This record gives sequence, C-alpha cells and structure tokens, in this order.
Amino acid sequence: MKSPLKNLIPFWLGRKLRGGFQKINGLIYSGNTLFCPYCNRSFRKFMPGGEDSPVIYEKQIIGAGYRENDVCPRCYSLDRDRLVYIFLKEKSALFTAPLKLFHVAPEGCIRAMISQLPNITYVPGVKYLEGYYYARQTNLLDITSIPYDDEAFDVIICNHVLEHIPDDMLALRELFRVLKPGGWAILQVPISKVLEKTFEDQTKIEEHERTTSFGQFDHVRIYGQDYRSRLESVGFIVKPFHPLAENLLEKYHNYAINPQEVLYVAYK
Ligand SMILES: [Zn+2]
Repeated sequence: MKSPLKNLIPFWLGRKLRGGFQKINGLIYSGNTLFCPYCNRSFRKFMPGGEDSPVIYEKQIIGAGYRENDVCPRCYSLDRDRLVYIFLKEKSALFTAPLKLFHVAPEGCIRAMISQLPNITYVPGVKYLEGYYYARQTNLLDITSIPYDDEAFDVIICNHVLEHIPDDMLALRELFRVLKPGGWAILQVPISKVLEKTFEDQTKIEEHERTTSFGQFDHVRIYGQDYRSRLESVGFIVKPFHPLAENLLEKYHNYAINPQEVLYVAYK
C-alpha cells in the first residue's frame, strides 16, 4: 500500500531497508504453526494485515478488511497470494509446462517464485512504479491498452487489480485478447457475498469517499455476485476454484487462507 513514508525514501534505500527488515522479521516470527509456500518458511503466526472500513462488513466483502494472520513476515505474501499458490500447485501445469506468463502489478512473492521457473517466460507489467516496491525491470503499461499481440500469453495473473480500474470491462476485453485459446487467467478481486449486482459510482473520486463507499481509498467499485457474468460477457469460461469445496483445506491448513474465498480462474 502506498504510504507517505515510501514517497520520501529513495527507491534503492527503501528496498535495502525492507530486505533487512524482512530477514529480521522472519526470525522474530519463526515457529512451526503456519507455512508460507513462497518463501518456503514456517512461522508461529503471520502478521495482521488489511484495512478496515464499515462497508467491508456491511457488504461482507471477501478478500478485504483486517485479518489477524494475513502477511508473511518474511516475503509479505498475503492470504490471497497463498490461495493462488494452492491453485497453481493443484490445478495448473505452471511448474512443468513451457508457458508464457503475463503478471499484472506483480506481487513480489509470486514474482520471485515464478520468474525463477526455467519453464516460464515471464513478462511483468504495471501502470505505476511510484510508491510501491516493484522491481525496476517491470514493464510500464496500462491493461486497458495492452501493448502486446493478440494471443501472446498462455497464462495471466491479475490479482486484485480490476477493482482499481475505472473501465474494468475494457481491461477484461484486453486481457481476453492477449490470452491464447486454451490459456487461463487468475482474475481475483474482492467480492461481496451479499451484493447481487456490482456497485460502482464514478462520481466518487475523493479517497475518503472511496474508502466509505468501496472499502479502500483507491478502489472504484465493489464487485457483487455478478462478477462471474462480467468475465463471461467478454468471452471467458469461468471455473471458480474453492479449496474448501474440494476438501483441500486440511492439506493446506497452515497457509491461513480465508476458507470462504473462491478464486476466480477464467479460461479462453
Ligand atoms: Zn513468505
């Protein structure tokens, strides 16, 4: 999350400080209760994370709000990132097949793992570098106008991005365009359990209004139960992945994922 402090500290220094802090933090939290598959380490607990706003509870938004065991102290993976890992491990050929992968707004933990896989051609992209610790090699781009050819990628990971984008339907059409037939995309967003229809109001542009209305200062909507049909409307075939429904929670009990969270995976 963007903070005023991050804007004051030079990028190189911020990275060094954070790296050192994470190593010490990993030791402080070390234990045998929880496990992070991205940094391959065990901890007695994770760090709390997530921002709170009354609307998150009122609308029962999954994938938002304060969580006690959320952030890996060593690599900063979040519960939702660890949910992605379970899908990748259980349901995909990511670790073996030769795949070209487009990673939007790349989470450091996911990037560190995937970009090292010898079978993966890895293409990271993000709209803004400022305020976040994205690696400098990340391509600057806008997913409402993706600078790549049609059917360029086998896999897309776009995790908690669409809720920030005013024209998300345009972004979805672009993501569909650059995905190969037979390819798949992780298109996770925070989603309300009780809203039938996605709620958006483009007149709310102030940070405090967005926090009140959508649950976070830089979100532009709350997705409802129609999210799946939004994905389908641009051509995707949606196959939600739910570890609870697939009896995978016991196997991954130490990942501290939200048992209610369903991962939206879209196929072309
Ligand atoms: Zn970790």
